[in-house]
Amino acid sequence: MTDAADSPSVRRLSAWDAAELQTLADEYGSPLYVLDLERVRQNYRRLAAAFPDADILYAVKANALGDVLAALHEEGAGLECASAGEVQRALEAGASDSEVHYTAVNPPAQDLDWIVDTWADHPELTVTAGSEDTIDRLADRGYDGRLCLRVNPGIGAGHHEKVQTGAAAKFGVPAERAVDVLTDAADRGFDVVGIHSHVGSGVSSDQLDAHREFVARMGDLAREVSETVTDLEFVDVGGGFGVPYRKDEEPLDLASVAEATREALGEVDARLAIEPGRYFVADAGVLLTDVNTVKAARDTTVVGVDAGMTTLIRPAMYDAYHPIRNLTADLDADEREIVPQTVAGPICESGDVFCADRELPATERGDVLAIGNAGAYGYEMANQYNSRPRPASIVLEDGDTRLARRRETVDDVTRPEREAHNGSATDRKTDDHPAASDTDDERVR
Ligand code: PLP
Repeated sequence: MTDAADSPSVRRLSAWDAAELQTLADEYGSPLYVLDLERVRQNYRRLAAAFPDADILYAVKANALGDVLAALHEEGAGLECASAGEVQRALEAGASDSEVHYTAVNPPAQDLDWIVDTWADHPELTVTAGSEDTIDRLADRGYDGRLCLRVNPGIGAGHHEKVQTGAAAKFGVPAERAVDVLTDAADRGFDVVGIHSHVGSGVSSDQLDAHREFVARMGDLAREVSETVTDLEFVDVGGGFGVPYRKDEEPLDLASVAEATREALGEVDARLAIEPGRYFVADAGVLLTDVNTVKAARDTTVVGVDAGMTTLIRPAMYDAYHPIRNLTADLDADEREIVPQTVAGPICESGDVFCADRELPATERGDVLAIGNAGAYGYEMANQYNSRPRPASIVLEDGDTRLARRRETVDDVTRPEREAHNGSATDRKTDDHPAASDTDDERVR
């Protein structure tokens, strides 16, 4: 095993073994997510070394594969969950209740039902609420357990406006109301344990000032809460640690980020908590895809591949850049000419492109491409639009390769419909989660 100190702080797509990836594509088919668990562990150890006195939770939403959760939990991470389903996965991966935080954003009723039921057997679970309504809805269900308040500090940062959460009205109670809300919650018997905020995702070094200001506001609030409401166990300043996607981008200087965080937070009588997702998994994953079409278009060459925005939506959704490498060309003895190419998927949307006019070795039908930095928000955001089954995922660990999640079939896509038609699925509410999808809040009053 590699020590944190020995592992490079960024793993570029060029560092992956082309022959190994090509063999995996041949063996498991395409499209295929490949995730290197050893790299996930290295990323965790490097970050943990920079934040030795912080509680580190992994934001499960970045990649919820059970193998990833188990590996990070084994390394010492707690798990931050965005839904009841993620909490279920976290507990199944071996986390104890005290290591699991559920961050409730406009939580569906069935999530709260399930969480409160689960809390009965897992009393150390922490629920982070982002509105007074959520606190009321928890109280309605009899919950008076560990409560953390998500606050909106009014500062956002991140790689795209759609992921800058710190100032978005949707998230958290405005910081200026936090003391009142926490006072009320404490008076009602909740076990107030923390305050939380998340500035945004993919925060880069040049946004360090925003990060500093954001953390300083959290520090001020923590001191005020400790003086006027109750002692806090932790101040959670979220995730958002950016990673380089482009060749010329430098990795975050973790030591500077850690120092800035500590300095900005100031003296607080509470533990610092952070909850990165992307940082652990992004460069541990690649997406392999077969080229099925090469077409000379009017202004570019279009390279058609079998992965699309349903497989990896980040380029379509955030104009995100992902490095692309032609594995077959790299393994070819012959040099190929470098020409501008547009790599596009099979989905009937003009936004279904992974890159436009990018200089790549001339692609041929049958080549295998690797799309880099696909370990975070890749499979997690995959969907079945155009009745496309989701791809398979394999993991690399200790020199072994194993299937971690099978490829879906069209049968998987259409089964819920067939079950509805043949009567094997109910169209009525049930108490099962997640089947109780339209549970009414009134039910529990
Ligand atoms: N915490 C919360 C509440 C989030 O919403 C997110 C992502 O959006 C994260 C943590 C993880 O962010 P990242 O993957 O950028 O570290």
